[in-house]
Amino acid sequence: MVAVIGSPIDHSMSPTILNAAFQAAELDWVYTAFEVATGAARDALEAMRTLGLAGLSVTMPHKSDVAAAVDRRSEDAQRLDAVNCVAWHGDLLVGHSTDGAGLIDALQIDEGWDVAGKRCVVIGAGGAARAAILALAAHGAGQVVVVNRTADRATQAAALAGAVGRVGTPEDVGDAELVVNATPIGMGAGHDVVSMYPGRSPVALPFDPAHVGPGQLVMDMVYTPLATPTVLAATARGARAVNGIGMLVHQAAHAFTLWTGEPAPLPAMSAAVMAALEAPPAT
Ligand code: NAP
Repeated sequence: MVAVIGSPIDHSMSPTILNAAFQAAELDWVYTAFEVATGAARDALEAMRTLGLAGLSVTMPHKSDVAAAVDRRSEDAQRLDAVNCVAWHGDLLVGHSTDGAGLIDALQIDEGWDVAGKRCVVIGAGGAARAAILALAAHGAGQVVVVNRTADRATQAAALAGAVGRVGTPEDVGDAELVVNATPIGMGAGHDVVSMYPGRSPVALPFDPAHVGPGQLVMDMVYTPLATPTVLAATARGARAVNGIGMLVHQAAHAFTLWTGEPAPLPAMSAAVMAALEAPPAT
């Protein structure tokens, strides 16, 4: 058995994606979700040892508590001080961070878009943004510009990109070849008009659409609704734009491989998540 821990956990897509993966790979594994209260992540890791769980996914608010509690961390997890996947290495629990690899695979495998040498802007400086910044720099991005509402968080996040990282302004979006929205702006109904930066007007988008156009790729980490306001606005301006489904599936695929040692059945995983998100809500 494999499980995801988080709070809240009831809307997690991970059981859908990973149970489809286990089924397609003909593995007799099951993936379930556990609501785990803030502060109880260490207990959940002990339960993983006691119950012999084959793997663990970790979501909000436990990523940094689990990073502190595992026996070892991958290099990315160490630098990010965050773990979203725990796997066994012998009798040790090793914490990994698969979001960055998921983003890169979504760009390279799904979009055929090579990061090397590219001017990238990441909007946001939270956990997902930090994973993206680290991965973009590691894959040879020419620039990684971080644009965030809270300045000191932007500074800390930009440092993850080393020499190619810097803090930017919303206007930097206009010069980017890749724009990554790593904020929740646009997620869910009725959540799309927000004040993005102190002293600026409320906006429905993470960037001014006037800064976006042909020749740019916009990657929105948001995927609910599937046609996100950011994707719609970027597409309307002539940019190429994708939602966060590809990243979601690829980060889960990396977890699958860490647990099972096998390549992930990507088509079955994508089909399962699309079927779930396209289904009418239960009444
Ligand atoms: P997080 O750690 O809470 O960080 C959120 C970031 O968004 C912060 O930088 C925050 O700015 C900024 N932000 C939030 N609300 C804002 C607003 N109204 N105006 C301007 N900035 C705002 O969250 P996270 O874990 O990084 O996740 C970010 C998004 O990515 C979420 O929508 C999440 O669902 C999505 N995500 C998707 C995937 C995927 O596989 N597709 C994976 C991970 C995350 P401050 O620093 O100023 O607070």
